[in-house]
Amino acid sequence: MITLQTSIEEIKGIKGIGQRFLPKLKKLGIHTVRDLLWHFPFRYDDFSKISKIADIKINEPVVIQAEVKEIKMLRTWKRRMIIVDALIGDNTGNIGAVWFNQPFILRGLRKGVWANFAGKVVVSKNKIYISSPSYEIISNLQENNNASDWRHTGRLVPIYPETRGITSKAIRFLIKPVLDNLEKLSEILPKEILEENKFLEINQAIKCVHFPEDLNQVINAKKRFAFEDLFLLQLNNLRQRLKLSKEKSFFFEVDLDYLKKLISHLPFELTQSQKKSLWEILQDFQKPHPMNRLLQGDVGSGKTIVAGLAALIVATHGKQSVFMAPTEVLARQHYKTFLKFFPDFNEGIGLITAGESRIFYGDGLENKIEKNDLIKKIAKGELRIIIGTHALIQKNIKFDNLAFTVVDEQHRFGINQRAMLVKKSNAGVLIPHFLSMSATPIPRTLNLTIFGDLDLSIIDELPKGRKEIITKIVSPLNRDKAYQFIRDQIKKGRQAFVICPRIDPAEINGNFFVLDVKAVKEEYGKLSKKVFPELKVAMLHGKIKSKEKIETMKQFNNGIIDILVSTSVVEVGVDVPNASIMLIEGSERFGLSQLYQFRGRVGRGTHQSFCFLFTESSSKTTHQRLRSLIEAKNGFELAEKDLAIRGPGQILGAEQTGLPDLAMKAIQNPELIKSARQAAEKIIKEDSELENYPLLKERLEIFQKEVHLE
Ligand code: ADP
Ligand code: MG
Repeated sequence: MITLQTSIEEIKGIKGIGQRFLPKLKKLGIHTVRDLLWHFPFRYDDFSKISKIADIKINEPVVIQAEVKEIKMLRTWKRRMIIVDALIGDNTGNIGAVWFNQPFILRGLRKGVWANFAGKVVVSKNKIYISSPSYEIISNLQENNNASDWRHTGRLVPIYPETRGITSKAIRFLIKPVLDNLEKLSEILPKEILEENKFLEINQAIKCVHFPEDLNQVINAKKRFAFEDLFLLQLNNLRQRLKLSKEKSFFFEVDLDYLKKLISHLPFELTQSQKKSLWEILQDFQKPHPMNRLLQGDVGSGKTIVAGLAALIVATHGKQSVFMAPTEVLARQHYKTFLKFFPDFNEGIGLITAGESRIFYGDGLENKIEKNDLIKKIAKGELRIIIGTHALIQKNIKFDNLAFTVVDEQHRFGINQRAMLVKKSNAGVLIPHFLSMSATPIPRTLNLTIFGDLDLSIIDELPKGRKEIITKIVSPLNRDKAYQFIRDQIKKGRQAFVICPRIDPAEINGNFFVLDVKAVKEEYGKLSKKVFPELKVAMLHGKIKSKEKIETMKQFNNGIIDILVSTSVVEVGVDVPNASIMLIEGSERFGLSQLYQFRGRVGRGTHQSFCFLFTESSSKTTHQRLRSLIEAKNGFELAEKDLAIRGPGQILGAEQTGLPDLAMKAIQNPELIKSARQAAEKIIKEDSELENYPLLKERLEIFQKEVHLE
């Protein structure tokens, strides 16, 4: 018997195929029978109606039941291709069938054999034929007409995500016998939930998703699986919440007079939503349990200062705060922000990245320090605020009394990493408060799903006095005009960003940090030598050494560099008030939210700022999509649009959520999320340890690992 845990090597009876396809299956991430069966089709071709040859139409997919009348192999002389060429016929007529580079077809399909052929009818060089049809041989014409036995023809045929060298047909070939010999699966969803939602039971569902009788079955089955993922996700969220609410953390009274003084010394007034968010954080400090909060706000909405003020309150109690930034440049910028807004803070602020380590004690001076000395100071509690990159949690750094962790992040920060930080603190049983900051505006439904274990604070307004950024879509015809405009602006003292997209391979890998450096280098070469030879152009990308990066950013900050050409994924939150132009190459390649983030890097100073969306595309929908960037009121609105147009993967990056595709799609279905949430709440309320649901519990544990939620 085959079980879900059976590895694909062990699948009996299909060894021959197994061996040949093993490496390719593994490339698709398929190692076990479970992986194989959960590799769902993304569409179904309707080959359920068998047509007569006389009735078929050109350019349409058909299935015919026909006899092989002639079959032979040809070699094309010019292109060195092997062609299998056949004539097949039924009682209404004959038609050609052609396969390219599949000589093995001859082994099974011989003259006189009857088969179902499914494929598209094409015309080429005045010949009508079916192009590379799938086929299934009919061993006994009278008996073998039972659709449920067929995999490739005569039914709704599943089409799978493919990889090089492994076709949908091969996957179907594997899945059918596996399903036929599979041990009965145990149902992990509670009975009440199945009944209440009228979901298909697991064994039925898995059959229906691969070999459905009609599309309704597919819809039902997929809904069930999507629900299952969302349900597990919510269970995980709720259990996480429950767990934290039982932990102890630091209790911090807030010295209101001190806070007011700090705020009054700022060179600006906090916005209403900054105040509200700060208040929510300080409220959490006055509860005995660890805070677990997400601070969301557009680029430039002023999150840093909110977290910074909270950190200063923590310092009044003699405890440490740590700020983690996704890049060295950003870490450095946070450090500068602290120095600028809290110049009198004399309890020690440290910066530690791979490239540098510095300290500040409120005496107007800030200094370089040996990294080891800095680490010692952290361990001795001689620094109250420590700013760095994520490397902070990997290095041999020990905190003295860490009470507040702030992560300025682009992706989710795992519970495990948090646990590591806790270990580094000698705070005993107390768990530090945790604040995650995100500039990605995330639609509410998505928040509930992905960040359901976090409390939410939202900054939904920009500081007063920010000018609207003038945004233009620029076609290739107007490229020179735009360059001229930029030249004029730079002559007036402004600076410009040029963002180049990373190209497809990176996206296919799903690997967020593979950068297409080439595009940047090319663009840099072109701009520095041909377009703006008289200006200072520099480039920034992930492969440049950190020292150099810092130097480049410094020079851009100081206005020495006029134009900075950069990849999309580096230095997202960079704050250079004098930069007033954001030029984005290949803008159609980016999600709206991402474009919005880029644009947010300008318009931070007093100058009128501009965003140029370069696109070679003339597609109407592309232009419409880009235009929503001009029309939308805020990032949340664009995020909702992104979600609707491109799915949640585009907002968060598949890597970042690790969610199965189906659940990602399901996020667009608020009703399903709601019912998953309610179902999870009910169960956790009655049985938070899931003692009455051992199968569910077991699955949840595996799910947490798969989805990297632990
Ligand atoms: P983000 O939310 O993108 O991290 P920052 O914290 O970097 O935004 O703030 C962007 C800029 O706005 C910084 O230069 C910061 O000093 C400034 N800023 C923050 N709050 C305000 C405010 N209330 N009024 C004016 N400027 C502010
Ligand atoms: Mg920021």
